[in-house]
Amino acid sequence: MRGLLLIPGPTPLHPRVRQALGGDAIAHTSAEFREAFLELLDMTKRLFLSSKGRPVVFSGSGTVGLEALVTSLLRPGDEVLSLEAGYFGKRFTLLARLHGARVTAVEARGGRGFSAEELRELLARQRYRAVLMTHVETSRGVESPLPELVKACKEHGVLALVDGVCSVGACEFRFDDWGVDAAVTASQKGLAGPPGATLLMLSEEAAAYIEGRRDIPSYYLDLARWLKVMEDPRIYLSTPTTHVLLAVNVALKVALGEGLETRWRRHEMQARALQRALERMGLALVAEPGFRAHTVTAFYAPGGSAGELQGFLYERMGLYLAQGMGEEKEKLLRIGHFGNIGRREIYQAVSLLGQALRAKGHGVALEEALGGLLEELAAVPEPPA
Ligand code: PMP
Repeated sequence: MRGLLLIPGPTPLHPRVRQALGGDAIAHTSAEFREAFLELLDMTKRLFLSSKGRPVVFSGSGTVGLEALVTSLLRPGDEVLSLEAGYFGKRFTLLARLHGARVTAVEARGGRGFSAEELRELLARQRYRAVLMTHVETSRGVESPLPELVKACKEHGVLALVDGVCSVGACEFRFDDWGVDAAVTASQKGLAGPPGATLLMLSEEAAAYIEGRRDIPSYYLDLARWLKVMEDPRIYLSTPTTHVLLAVNVALKVALGEGLETRWRRHEMQARALQRALERMGLALVAEPGFRAHTVTAFYAPGGSAGELQGFLYERMGLYLAQGMGEEKEKLLRIGHFGNIGRREIYQAVSLLGQALRAKGHGVALEEALGGLLEELAAVPEPPA
């Protein structure tokens, strides 16, 4: 890929991560791999800010982690509430249904996520075993107030199962302090690693529940098996994608080396600067204020031809953005701005987008957008060198 990759994952790799991917094969049974893997698990706990939780990392994408979660934590017939703010919320519902849960799905309206008040109302109406929630809904750039949602779950004694695929590593996430029961992320998003690994965090109670089950109807998605591998990585379940996992180890070092709080603040500041610039340009964002994500921004493509604009931006200008998902494919464009994406890339993206829209005959206020942007971005820390 030549040019600028600003899609909601995968996202550009740090040179040290690329270097880790370029090594020769190593044995998954070697002491070298075992050491790097145990270090990766330790860093995963630091990433989620959990000292008590049990990390599980294995080969597969975010979807695999989410499916393992519902397979291992839910039983057929369990009553589950699913908060859907877009495509990935619906997918979470589907995964739980495929594994036999009785899911009540509720959809967020417009460009909103869910508030704690809405969740409390839903929880007061019916008794559930678990709530499925997506921290950042990637298809629409919508972020929900996770700590408050988890708190509402705790008040009702309901499990909070979190899709943190598009947030962990870039957005504030405090697994222990917030009382999350289980959360999933993937290597290619906020962590800025290559795709191919899923990282889960289970509370002590959730892990104990899984370890006590003898009826998990899967081999690869059975987290009880994976928990044993985490204790002793020499146990063989299936050959790990060693290169990917070694590269994720390095991506975690880069992310934690930046400092989590600095990293969260950087993502928030650059997201806000980008979002304000797009609005000044005259574009309509999908997410309402208060629900705008720090990692991905979706906006309505002027003229409703997202595909044409996306193609033009890439082929003529080298800027790769993503279209909308599902029914919104032609309506929306999405910008991923996490990991190693920083203020320079954001400035370039706004500039190229404005020029492309002009070339396509849309009157946009590009100078207004860029004017304030430079000053705002000057205050944003640089991504890791
Ligand atoms: N959930 C969310 C919120 C996502 O953004 C994604 C990936 N875009 C997934 C789940 C699925 O992850 P993967 O593509 O790694 O399987």
